[in-house]
Amino acid sequence: MDAWAALKLQMDYGVDEALDDLPVVRLRPPAPAVAAPVPRPPPAPAAPPPAPAARSAQDLANQADTPEALRAALARFEGCALSVTATNLVFADGNPEARLMLVGEAPGAEEDRAGRPFVGPSGQLLDRMLASVGLDRTQLLITNLIPWRPPGNRNPTDAEIAACLPFLLRHIALVRPRRLVLLGAMAARTVLDSKTGITRLRGRWTKAHIPGLDQPIDTLPMLHPAYLLRNQGAKRDAWADLVSLKRALDADRE
Ligand code: URA
Repeated sequence: MDAWAALKLQMDYGVDEALDDLPVVRLRPPAPAVAAPVPRPPPAPAAPPPAPAARSAQDLANQADTPEALRAALARFEGCALSVTATNLVFADGNPEARLMLVGEAPGAEEDRAGRPFVGPSGQLLDRMLASVGLDRTQLLITNLIPWRPPGNRNPTDAEIAACLPFLLRHIALVRPRRLVLLGAMAARTVLDSKTGITRLRGRWTKAHIPGLDQPIDTLPMLHPAYLLRNQGAKRDAWADLVSLKRALDADRE
């Protein structure tokens, strides 16, 4: 295969940036720490029992009793292959004690590098949108459905979403926000367990039932800022939804 075809294949696979100067063969077993010949060790005693199977996402998530413990549990979680290709875990940003929580989809390249959600172009638009109704990240907590960047910014698969969902649900249960905003079709579909499209869901307050919480949470699905960057005409709907959010937050304070 010539170099051009090899490059094209990588691009088709979603490889869109170089992380190291040289390619890494991740399937090769790690090289021994000492290269020089060493005396042969005495025969090992009986082989150790196999490591216990990786604990399920549900167990790991439920054992965390603070957002920080949940972050640590996610960092140990091996049940989602995206953690291998990502540079950083992207857990959350903002105020963990806020009464408003936003859920996006998955980190992009900038978020992967920074380890923080919504810092790239769609995050900058989101910040401007929130600022237009007097909100900033000190007043909310923002996270994603998936905490690792899918290579090439492809959509996460259903299996990847299912693998990470217990952590998101536990995160919401630990933060106990008064209101939840779901950004984009994937977050809305998953958290509301609904097949309805985002254009029908957006702008309508609904109740999200989160395991571990006795009360459902008032939830507003909205268009994703990345969609708004591509569809200028949708900004009017986004503005209507922001006004609805602002009114609801103001009413909570009265
Ligand atoms: N899009 C998302 O849904 N989340 C991010 O963190 C960045 C872009």
